[in-house]
Amino acid sequence: MSYDVDALREQFPALDRSLYGHPLVYLDNAATSQTPLRVVDAIRDGYLHRKANVHRGVHTLSQEATDAMEHARERVRAHIGAASTREVIFTRGTTEAINLVAASYGELLTEGDEVILTVMEHHSNIVPWQLLAARRGIVIKAVPILPDGSLDMDAYRSMLSPRTRLVSVCHASNVLGTVNPVAEMCREAHAAGAVFCVDGAQGAPHMRIDVGAIGCDFYAFSAHKMYGPAGIGVLYGREELLNRMPPYQGGGEMIGRCSFSGTTWAELPYKFEAGTPDFVDAAAFTAALDFIDGIGIEAIARHEHDLLTYATSRMMEIPGMRIFGTAPGKCAVISFLIGNAHHYDTGMLLDKLGIAVRTGHHCAQPLMEALGVEGTVRASFAAYNTRAEADALVEALRRIAPLLS
Ligand SMILES: *Cc1c(COP(=O)(O)O)cnc(C)c1O
Repeated sequence: MSYDVDALREQFPALDRSLYGHPLVYLDNAATSQTPLRVVDAIRDGYLHRKANVHRGVHTLSQEATDAMEHARERVRAHIGAASTREVIFTRGTTEAINLVAASYGELLTEGDEVILTVMEHHSNIVPWQLLAARRGIVIKAVPILPDGSLDMDAYRSMLSPRTRLVSVCHASNVLGTVNPVAEMCREAHAAGAVFCVDGAQGAPHMRIDVGAIGCDFYAFSAHKMYGPAGIGVLYGREELLNRMPPYQGGGEMIGRCSFSGTTWAELPYKFEAGTPDFVDAAAFTAALDFIDGIGIEAIARHEHDLLTYATSRMMEIPGMRIFGTAPGKCAVISFLIGNAHHYDTGMLLDKLGIAVRTGHHCAQPLMEALGVEGTVRASFAAYNTRAEADALVEALRRIAPLLS
């Protein structure tokens, strides 16, 4: 079966837009992807026909809303290879999922316990641990990177010790594109007696995720970066660990029985889902997973990889081009600077030519510090991008480069 990118683009009305007389070339997919019609239809259907609070009513509408959300939970479970729907917790996104782990699993840590991160982490996999460090006196260590943007695995191994209680690392870097060897890192963390958490915000959109094969204890991701709605995400957690962890937030839906003489917790996963969840977007997330599975995540990955190698080789021909992150097997993210041009100026001029890229520190300031830059320009690809769009990026860069020096 050939990859029919034109048919696929028809599901994304946003891609038909023009900006300043140029067709929109959307290359900010690592920040958020565009949304196909079927997902928007699912959201619309949920609000227009099935809006009732979940798990609370005996009435039919409430039953339907509950069924749609629980069907979504099962769909997510199968998609990531989790053993049970009790291990699938709906959150607002990756950020909330990691905060949940840091706040709740963090309660089991004590002063002097060590948490290992890496310098390539997004702020949402750094700051929750810093908040925990301020509360509980844990020690944070960060694994450095090698010049090509891959992790320094020797440094990682030397950091692991009996004091290591948790390792949390991105599956793929939102800046460098580096795909980390999470299964191997997880085995080594477990051998040291630590639990292993994966920030999958850039993994789930581009790879088949099998939490059993990785062996991880936690895996966090956001729907909006994988063609789904904003405001919904998932924390996968291993059941035995989740059972040992205290609730993260208190409220409705998360209690077994509430009384002023003492309250008991609901069973998993509801113990970690206080309050009314985003049930419409959770249900609509299944439409995004259907979209991905309709193409095949491996086919998407091959298509994106083709765009990555094509765009990279053409960009390298531009004088003064510096690309950050060249690790083998990286995913389709290209961070770059042209000569001494400021990333913001480059991004602004590209916008005037219809090209949407990200500029700045990409919520990864420690990584910027390690790279010795203040920020970069980032082009990132998704299932619907084309070689013609990669050409448009390269032509635009050639056009603006003389203006920037
Ligand atoms: C986007 C991103 C996050 C944060 O995701 P939210 O959807 O904003 O919660 C975390 N880590 C990485 C690697 C990301 O790219």
